[in-house]
Amino acid sequence: MENGRLLNYIGGEWRASSASDWLDVLNPATVEVMRQVPLSPAAEVDQAAQAAAAALPDWRRTPPTERIQYLFKMKAVLEENFEDLSRTITMECGKILEEARGEMRRSIENVEVACGIPALMQGYNSEDIASGIDELMIRQPVGVAAVLAPFNFPAMIPFWFMPYALACGNTYVVKPSERVPLTMQKIFRLLEQIGLPKGVLNMVNGARDTAEAILDHPIIRAVSFVGSTATAKHVYSRAAASGKRVQCGGGAKNPIVILPDADIETSTRIIADSAFGCAGQRCLAASLAITVGEARDTFTEAIADAAATRVVGFGLDAGVQMGPVITAASQGRVERLIGQSVTEGAEALVDGRGAKIKGYETGFFVRPTVLRGVTPGTEVAQTEIFGPVLGLIHVNTVDEAIALVNEGRYGNMACLFTSNGAAARKFRYEAEVGNVGINVGIAAPMAFFPFSGWRESFFGDLHGQGLDAVEFFTQKKVVVERWPKEWSRKF
Ligand code: NAD
Repeated sequence: MENGRLLNYIGGEWRASSASDWLDVLNPATVEVMRQVPLSPAAEVDQAAQAAAAALPDWRRTPPTERIQYLFKMKAVLEENFEDLSRTITMECGKILEEARGEMRRSIENVEVACGIPALMQGYNSEDIASGIDELMIRQPVGVAAVLAPFNFPAMIPFWFMPYALACGNTYVVKPSERVPLTMQKIFRLLEQIGLPKGVLNMVNGARDTAEAILDHPIIRAVSFVGSTATAKHVYSRAAASGKRVQCGGGAKNPIVILPDADIETSTRIIADSAFGCAGQRCLAASLAITVGEARDTFTEAIADAAATRVVGFGLDAGVQMGPVITAASQGRVERLIGQSVTEGAEALVDGRGAKIKGYETGFFVRPTVLRGVTPGTEVAQTEIFGPVLGLIHVNTVDEAIALVNEGRYGNMACLFTSNGAAARKFRYEAEVGNVGINVGIAAPMAFFPFSGWRESFFGDLHGQGLDAVEFFTQKKVVVERWPKEWSRKF
């Protein structure tokens, strides 16, 4: 870092960007300017791609058992600096420290899973597919790959991809979100200590133009993107147009169904954490609560109480349960959508607009909000709000609830709260979403499962994490071999 200006990391060295445009990186609770991030020009993307390409031949020839030694060291430096990295996430992203620690834990779990690459990237073979002929499938790295990351998980989302990419023998370029680049800057400082060969891992900071230079760069063979649906669609088609392998996670509008036989007290606690945790800025945040039958009254009262009593503030302060949203624009948008829902006929049972937090009066806060009587089909029932806002919808049967779940354009997650196994199985079977929670409010897959997502929440075939990531970062080569005895020397 020079004069508060963040650097890029290219070819094993820190380089000042020649960018003419820079953005302030703010702490969304205090609105303190922490650093400036460059909007790096295409020429710097090219330098990173060239450095990664130069490192590729030696890196792919490094045996997987040796490549993972770097990942063991990566885990060690992340563990040693766990607390500092968690605090950095809170400072730039706003989530509370406990949530930031959870994010770091899942980041490290992905490194741990990628350490299994020598087994995970094995191929398979068949002897004697015809007399004396054998056939085998081997996995080879795709080449130079890159990730374009969103703001809401500054560490974890690059780790859904990067450890697998490296372990499989690819070289890599990370473009962090321009709104939260500090965590990755710190992580790269630490990763310098693990001694990766120059050019194996690179970082270029920037926003849309930098990202598009990555999408268009001929050397980069694979792109992983996570962000909003509109951008995901754009990235999917633009990267595919230049023949890249591409996977794109998009936005979400996650419904949670509550049956009358659920334990309302525990369910409410879990659902409040889902809706208001990370200030609702999780792609798995509950956004609609669909009550069935008699669950309506008990749940409505309980969730209103949970929303009204949640302690909001700066995530490093003791006792705080929810932080700010990311920007003033985001705060304005969330408040506008709350207003719109009231115009559309809902009642703001708990209204989080106009929040002023003592000591942090200028921070981008919206308090937890509960909207009663949201009408299916209205904008607020369909749009991703990405703030601490839970809309309530009431129906009479499980079938109606499932039909509502399946009506939405997104398909990231849906959850059911019940004590009825048959209802749970029906829900699991019929919900058209990629991640299902049964009596769980954030159905976030562990690192050894794919982080799924269907419909407008995901574009592509292979997801991040686990075996899907191994598939994404390898290409299959099939070899058919014959060694006629008469062509070989006598043995
Ligand atoms: P965003 O779409 O604004 O930005 C994501 C990334 O795309 C950033 O790095 C940004 O610089 C880059 N970008 C911007 N314009 C681009 C363009 N034209 N071409 C290529 N890249 C471009 O998303 P955000 O606001 O940072 O993140 C929040 C969104 O991410 C929410 O919609 C949330 O649901 C979604 N999300 C989805 C998942 C998932 O797994 N599906 C996980 C986390 C977040």
